[in-house]
Amino acid sequence: MTSPSLDTLCTWIRTESPTHDVAGVNLMMDLVVEQMKDAPVAVERVRGEQGLGDALILRAGPARDEAGILIMSHLDTVHPVGTIKEDLPVRVEGDRLYGPGIYDMKGGAYLALEAFKEVARQGNAARPMVFLMTPDEEIGSPMTRPIIEDFGRRSAYALVTEPARDGGKIVTSRKGVGRFDVHVEGRPAHAGSRHQDGRNAIYEAARQILAIEAMTDYVRGVTTTVGMISGGTAVNTIPQHCQFPVDLRVETVADGEALTAAIRSLKAHNPDMKVTVTGDMNRPPYECSEGTAKLFDHAKGLAAEIGFELVSSPRTGGGSDGNFTAAIGVPTLDGLGIDGDGAHTLQEYGLISSIAPRRQLMKRLLETLR
Ligand SMILES: [Zn+2]
Repeated sequence: MTSPSLDTLCTWIRTESPTHDVAGVNLMMDLVVEQMKDAPVAVERVRGEQGLGDALILRAGPARDEAGILIMSHLDTVHPVGTIKEDLPVRVEGDRLYGPGIYDMKGGAYLALEAFKEVARQGNAARPMVFLMTPDEEIGSPMTRPIIEDFGRRSAYALVTEPARDGGKIVTSRKGVGRFDVHVEGRPAHAGSRHQDGRNAIYEAARQILAIEAMTDYVRGVTTTVGMISGGTAVNTIPQHCQFPVDLRVETVADGEALTAAIRSLKAHNPDMKVTVTGDMNRPPYECSEGTAKLFDHAKGLAAEIGFELVSSPRTGGGSDGNFTAAIGVPTLDGLGIDGDGAHTLQEYGLISSIAPRRQLMKRLLETLR
């Protein structure tokens, strides 16, 4: 890999783009557009909505009316602006390139874009290619989900550049993710003089949380997590309100429906209290279909030609935009991004030596997926 292209990637990493920073995300989109300037690529910019940045739809390859290859990368990160100043400065240490979003997933977006551009230039894409650059994956893709599903329905394959797992492993299945908000309403009272009149919303919420956490079943691959809680107004006041979000992960569509129903039907133990649950499955489970298994075998053969072994990772708990395409039946390969570690942490890095072979794998996929 030549150092000028590493410079481009470093510019991407220095362009901080947390999901809700519209200016930063749009600056990333500008950099991508700039990079496509001299390539035979049609660029469509979709203006951001819901307080989010823009999305890009890049088209190239044969202008035939047939199902194409969909490539998906997100350019938002979870790191707030300012992270590069002290917490996670952009730097190279040996083979490691450190920086916010390098691993999840600017490294992957970058190597795929380079491959896409080269195949577009050489004019040897196997099918029409659509590259979606999205601004909102880290918050569950509320804006781009319909776009992803729309292009998914018109695609023969979906390739997702989320980070590779432990030593370059690829992803062929992911758990589905559900998100819920629980609100408990009780009755406020003075903790000293009117204790008997109060209905403690935090007490009731605690009982609900025990019930929710008890839904976890590792054997079925079901987990429920209450990771935050808020409630109450003062130490000497019986709290009227308490609320908390619930994170649900499931392996099958059936479990997604069953657990959603269970969480949504939670009722207060005390008739003077009210429990309200909102939310739903956010990302359906990405189960390894026959088509996905075949796509993986094809990629494995290409990787062997390039000189590395492609291994499928055990089902991962994190959801991605690949869940949306897999759920509508499109053979989907994920984890095609850069190798490294430390996603969403201040130790995030990508392995520079993984860029060239994985860029080559992406290129070969675009040339051979008939
Ligand atoms: Zn990601």
